[in-house]
Amino acid sequence: MSDHATFSLADSIVYDDGVFRPYHDVRLGLLTHALHYGTGCFEGIRGYWLPEYDELALLHLREHYQRLAASARMLFMKLPHTVDELVEITKELCRRNKFRHGIYLRPFLFKSLEAIGVRLHDIPERFALVAVPFARYIDAEGGLRVGTSGWRRVEDTMMPARAKITGVYVNSALAKSEAILAGFDEAIMLSHDGHVAEGSAENLFVVKNGRVITPDPSQNILEGITRQSIMTLLTNELGIEVVERAVDRTELFHADELFFTGTAIGIEPIAEVDHRRIGNGTTPITTRLISLYHDAVHGKLPTYQSWLTPVYRENLKTPSSIEP
Ligand code: PMP
Repeated sequence: MSDHATFSLADSIVYDDGVFRPYHDVRLGLLTHALHYGTGCFEGIRGYWLPEYDELALLHLREHYQRLAASARMLFMKLPHTVDELVEITKELCRRNKFRHGIYLRPFLFKSLEAIGVRLHDIPERFALVAVPFARYIDAEGGLRVGTSGWRRVEDTMMPARAKITGVYVNSALAKSEAILAGFDEAIMLSHDGHVAEGSAENLFVVKNGRVITPDPSQNILEGITRQSIMTLLTNELGIEVVERAVDRTELFHADELFFTGTAIGIEPIAEVDHRRIGNGTTPITTRLISLYHDAVHGKLPTYQSWLTPVYRENLKTPSSIEP
């Protein structure tokens, strides 16, 4: 059985190039194309441990693999498995690692040629899947302090922001480090024309006078899977229709509430932007969403159990196959 304390990355089982093997048995050449040119795509998927069910549940597994397939198309790549096969491979990987705690899954497809030459076509590809215990993404009690980045979000005519491409993450890394080194918890990136895009790895929501606004997909955002879930919860559970539109930077300063969403971060309130306190310090809508989302991803809301893929049983209503 694996838990946070005993987990060893080197000994963990990964899926690589069609086989399950220990992490330390993987061989990756120094000239690997993706390492030099950023020619890969990836996903970040969470698995939540459900103590009431003695079960590990993977959140929005299919949606993540569908997005990976779309990112791959952008790079003239094709996943070596169907989404159905990937779901089974992922469950099997978790079972082989005997995970009994929250995890973070990292599937990736990359150009594996070991030769010099920047291009996308006619290059062999390799798919791998690694899983690690999940650790809290950002540690900030009482809301995040964020700063607007001097780095603009990649523009669609330069790099595809809507695909999760490894090379594009230099943009996020520049913004994130700039923010942290300046004493903030996270960055907000503007797009080339000065509208708000998103955080380094999070989508952004604005609450103003009971309405909720988020930058629309043409603002060079990654269309987050959590963003979609939050829009669903807002509509179905709180009766609030989300408006997707361009958002000015100064609208953030006038917001009643601001929050980030993302697979790793979940939902996280933003307390300050560029040294300005947001709202009056109360966050009624964000607080309700955090609680709804927490319940949904932990299998406590029957309506949203379809978001979850259990690892050790067929569905949350059938018995577990974990040996006692
Ligand atoms: N934007 C970027 C740039 C990201 O890397 C992420 C994390 N995948 C998100 C937004 C949030 O997307 P999701 O909710 O699918 O994790």
